[in-house]
Amino acid sequence: MRIHNLPSQLINQIAAGEVVERPASVIKELLENSLDAGATRIDVDIEQGGLRLLRVRDNGYGIHPEDLVLALSRHATSKIASLEDLEQVVSMGFRGEALPSIASVSRFTLISHCHDVEQAWRIDSDGATIGTATPAAHPVGTTIEVHDLFFNTPARRKFLRTEKTEFGHVEEMLRRIALSRFDVEFNLRHNERAVCRLRGGQQIGDSEQRVAELCGAEFLASAFRIEHAAAGLRLHGWIGAPTFSRSQSDRQYFFVNGRMVRDKLAGHAVRQAYHDVLYHGRHPAFVLYFELDPARVDVNAHPAKSEVRFRDSRLVHDFLFHTVHEALAATRAGNAETAPAPALPSLSYPQAMPVGNHYGTGQQHAIDLSAREQMHTYAALHPAPVTPLMPAVEPVDTAVPPLGYALAQLLGIYILAENAAGLVLVDMHAAHERITYERLKAAQSGAGMQAQPLLVPVSVAVSAREADVAEAQA
Ligand code: ADP
Ligand code: MG
Repeated sequence: MRIHNLPSQLINQIAAGEVVERPASVIKELLENSLDAGATRIDVDIEQGGLRLLRVRDNGYGIHPEDLVLALSRHATSKIASLEDLEQVVSMGFRGEALPSIASVSRFTLISHCHDVEQAWRIDSDGATIGTATPAAHPVGTTIEVHDLFFNTPARRKFLRTEKTEFGHVEEMLRRIALSRFDVEFNLRHNERAVCRLRGGQQIGDSEQRVAELCGAEFLASAFRIEHAAAGLRLHGWIGAPTFSRSQSDRQYFFVNGRMVRDKLAGHAVRQAYHDVLYHGRHPAFVLYFELDPARVDVNAHPAKSEVRFRDSRLVHDFLFHTVHEALAATRAGNAETAPAPALPSLSYPQAMPVGNHYGTGQQHAIDLSAREQMHTYAALHPAPVTPLMPAVEPVDTAVPPLGYALAQLLGIYILAENAAGLVLVDMHAAHERITYERLKAAQSGAGMQAQPLLVPVSVAVSAREADVAEAQA
């Protein structure tokens, strides 16, 4: 076969393969365009998870009528003009690819009223051809409608999931972008029902309200606010207390100069900082904003702009690690509000006694009693004989349980145990949680969970996603 040039619709559809994966990626590009246009209010309307319609309406500067066709042309942008601009870009967009890509795989309408032009104009595209601009009615700002995404690329459409799943992705995308701009109002509707209204505000209280709304009130209540700047780098935001750890890394938001990115380097630095205070396999929750001179970070590293490259990556890693590590250390030292450990019904936790009190009359008895009680519980949880307190006679070689046999209780919260390898310190609270968890796991994979209706209902606060899981597993 000889070489030939591809038709422009096909070129755009190839580009769409990189930037437009699903309805949520359309929303990302459209919201970023609205923010770049200085919008202070953005309304998003979704129908059928975005499979039928995605509409984004903003009150930004608008597009000049003579530029409407250009806006739908590949590599046409108002945001950069030279390599120097690219190397220190501050806008969300700069590739001039999003609108033509989206328009090539949907039925597309663009209506815009430019702030210094009398009249609004409208232009339509059916995936293959762009119509001519006609006058329209619209306040200053822009509305973009994307109907029937992937209607002309059936192979792509097949990859889309259910309406509910796709809408979940749209919501998550909006959440990320709303966390990047507290000053902008966002409204989201799905199938003509309001899903969320986020008012804009510049005060710290406004930001906290939005974080609570988007990440959960429990996150905010247990989170620490951090703020640190050095060497031209600044990190601020909220880090979740170790007690708020999660089984997935789904509450980790990291923004570089206002752009939400999935950055391996930053992820590694933060994970390291939490290393000492999190159980293995748990993930911290955080909302962090990292700011630096745009010339020190390359945002042109990924077509969907979800990755960046730092010019001095070593310095950035150390700065992020130390800032978060020190913030966590400071909270552990007890000079910040620490989250109370969740109460466990079956174990009691006597307060650690100051040294000296141990020998007070009466006190001694109280401690002993509760210690014995605690060891009793531990022994009950570990179906193995508790060896008496004495120098070990020949270690028993017949299956010593991994956590060994209990010897004593320390500070009311740890069990000192002995196993084949030596001494083991067990955090009773963690051990109890783990045992309960293993029992639940065994019950679920084995004979099935034992269920019992409650006399008095108990209400539990969960996220929308957790509610979905609970419903699916009901
Ligand atoms: P990029 O954002 O990379 O420049 P896009 O294809 O996303 O490329 O958009 C092309 C151009 O259309 C933008 O540079 C901008 O000038 C204009 N534009 C797109 N959306 C809007 C909007 N909501 N308000 C004003 N101008 C917009
Ligand atoms: Mg753009």
